[in-house]
Amino acid sequence: ARPLPFAPRPVPLSATLAVNEALHRKRGQGMRVLPLGFGEAGIPIHPALARELEAAAGRGAYGPVAGSAALRAAAAGYWSRRGTPTDPSSVVCGPGSKPLLFALLMALGGDVVVPAPSWVTYAAQTALVGAEPVRVATPPGEGGVPSPALLADAVVRARRRGRTVRAVVVTLPDNPTGTLAAEDTVRRLCSVARDLDLVVISDEIYRDLVHEPGRTVPSPVRFAPERAVVTTALSKSLAAGGWRLGVARLPDGPFGRALRDSVLGVASEVWSSAPAPMQHAAAYAFAEPPELVEHVDRSRRLHAAVAAAVADRFAAAGARVPRPQAAFYVYPDLGPLREALGEGHGVRTAEDLTSLLLERYGVGVLPGSSFGDPPAALRMRVAPSLLYGEDDEQRLAALASPA
Ligand code: PLP
Repeated sequence: ARPLPFAPRPVPLSATLAVNEALHRKRGQGMRVLPLGFGEAGIPIHPALARELEAAAGRGAYGPVAGSAALRAAAAGYWSRRGTPTDPSSVVCGPGSKPLLFALLMALGGDVVVPAPSWVTYAAQTALVGAEPVRVATPPGEGGVPSPALLADAVVRARRRGRTVRAVVVTLPDNPTGTLAAEDTVRRLCSVARDLDLVVISDEIYRDLVHEPGRTVPSPVRFAPERAVVTTALSKSLAAGGWRLGVARLPDGPFGRALRDSVLGVASEVWSSAPAPMQHAAAYAFAEPPELVEHVDRSRRLHAAVAAAVADRFAAAGARVPRPQAAFYVYPDLGPLREALGEGHGVRTAEDLTSLLLERYGVGVLPGSSFGDPPAALRMRVAPSLLYGEDDEQRLAALASPA
């Protein structure tokens, strides 16, 4: 047969999933692997949540594009309890927050400012929708928020080049650094975004995993409700990433309603409606029954302890490592160890190190360059087994599950 005269558009696998796939292959070859690349909680699904899903297995029909009324009401309640009064009509659900972000970027139709470093997907999705990511460094120690002082300059320069910059993404708390920006930084970012006519997309998927008890997340929706989009999901705090269920809260006012309509248009052409059984379980989860609140709290405490201990070990080895404040990541800068790693193992960059760890030891971690950072940093998910040993994984799972 005649070969096709064109190549498909090259789209690389997302860095986190690529590590995951490599580990699956190694496991298939009989290697013992340690998956610390993909962002997943080291806790099980709560049995009560699993029961909700089972109870809804018979729901096979397509539902409303925006999501069921019950789920939208529950998600609205979730945000309202966190100080952001929310009407169910501004909630849109989708098969994970990743596709919701993609639909948003499609609907916005312009370039997007993303923090450097930031979660791999923002820049990749921006490019997929035919736009340009504008990288802006974060203030020291405050991952997830482009520095307000650098934002205006970057946007003005991009606009001078004829670019149409429409949004800025923040991650609160942050992946990959595991830190949480200060309220004042977020307030200043919102003020600059207002001056520059930017939508603020706030990815708050790690919101309930802030290590310090009682510390609140400074959501941009508090400072700029007319332009802030907020997303979250069941994936991280309830360890249900594989269920693929996320929600977005669109801005208040006429612009927010128009944006919602466009997002729903994209959703209707891409996923029609999120899986009905997952929506049913998610409505239960976002209503926050006491057993799930307790479960998330155990997860928070467990990951806080492991992240602090792992960060301490990196620091003791000479790495510069931001103090983990949320989620389940440590992000050591291995610059100070360059000589030792170069001499002993021929490792020059974090990419060299991550391939060595993967190939020789079956350990999956990611280099900072995957997040748009110079290649001296490493992002590692912390699993409870790192602290307590593989054999204790079951004991730890028991610790994290309800009594
Ligand atoms: N946002 C951030 C910051 C993440 O780290 C991840 C998962 O790695 C996601 C979103 C993806 O979430 P979902 O499972 O809801 O698509």
